[in-house]
Amino acid sequence: MYSPDPTRYDAPQIYRRCGRSGLRLPLISLGLWHNFGAQDSYDNARAMVCRAFDLGITHFDLANNYGPPDGAAETTFARILHADLLKWRDELIISTKAGYYMWPGPYGEWGSRKYLLSSLDQSLKRMRLDYVDIFYSHRPDPDTPLEETMGALAQAVRSGKALYAGISNYKPAETGRAAIILRELGTPCLIHQPRYSMLDRWVEPELLATLEREGIGSIVFSPLAKGLLTDRYFKGIPADSRAGHDRRFLRPDDVTDAVLAKTRQLNNLALSRGQTLAQMALAWVLRHPCVTSALIGASRPSQVEDCFAATKNLKFSTEELSQIDKILA
Ligand code: NDP
Repeated sequence: MYSPDPTRYDAPQIYRRCGRSGLRLPLISLGLWHNFGAQDSYDNARAMVCRAFDLGITHFDLANNYGPPDGAAETTFARILHADLLKWRDELIISTKAGYYMWPGPYGEWGSRKYLLSSLDQSLKRMRLDYVDIFYSHRPDPDTPLEETMGALAQAVRSGKALYAGISNYKPAETGRAAIILRELGTPCLIHQPRYSMLDRWVEPELLATLEREGIGSIVFSPLAKGLLTDRYFKGIPADSRAGHDRRFLRPDDVTDAVLAKTRQLNNLALSRGQTLAQMALAWVLRHPCVTSALIGASRPSQVEDCFAATKNLKFSTEELSQIDKILA
């Protein structure tokens, strides 16, 4: 029987307000993209979610297509939730998304009202939930009017199947337009989920400025560059690492000498700050006040712990920041 750590809320500074909303999110959130599929160890998945909640990590991020196979992460999460966490449902922020391919035919991906609302119903069914906390349009659809996609998110909120609307992977101009439409519909955009890490700085400065102006929070995904911004690959490619065993999105070829040359230097700087490289990489994305949360993935509970400990040192001196810029240049 799981019983959460009673001290999990003893550090209120680990929560940050999401844009101009009433919702606060933990500085570190846990994503279930990898390691929660049908073939992954259930015990390990459960241990990661429970350890996260023990630490005060209240936010778990999913999408319709996380697995493999598609939908499996929601099914795994449902099993954990209903076995261990249901009593604490009101303490959890559960998100899901729709946008990528889910089922055949013209209604199984992108941004139509038909797809988004059907997919949300399917996600709720898989998770055995009445509502999710955040429902996202996972990617912009160049062929569907933005009004329709945002209208579907607004409908999800109005129907009570989602509490808040979010967007992911939207460029600055699309984000500005989406923000206006959602505000006019009375269901303001809570959050944007873009990719952001020391190795991928596309959100700077325009998207972050747009989010700040519109009062939208952000949760940045792959802040560890899928594991490259950790000590994982310093001694070769471990068989149990993402590049070692799950090559769908990170291949051994991605672990280049050029990347390693940078990450080794960053690692030295992290050590001088009394942090692991992963912790410094997370603190670095969180240096922007408009980045509400860093959305990590993990393959074991000890990684969740290591990442969470980033919250102990979020400050950077001007000199450290310029050293990082130099290494990354
Ligand atoms: P990260 O950049 O955090 O990479 C996670 C990987 O880094 C882990 O699987 C692990 O690799 C390694 N790692 C994590 N912590 C440590 C540590 N302390 N020490 C050493 N290695 C560590 O994020 P992800 O790419 O996994 O993405 C995170 C989440 O973002 C996803 O689960 C999903 O929720 C969301 N996401 C959203 C997208 C979108 O389009 N909106 C797209 C992609 C992700 P290993 O497995 O090798 O141990």
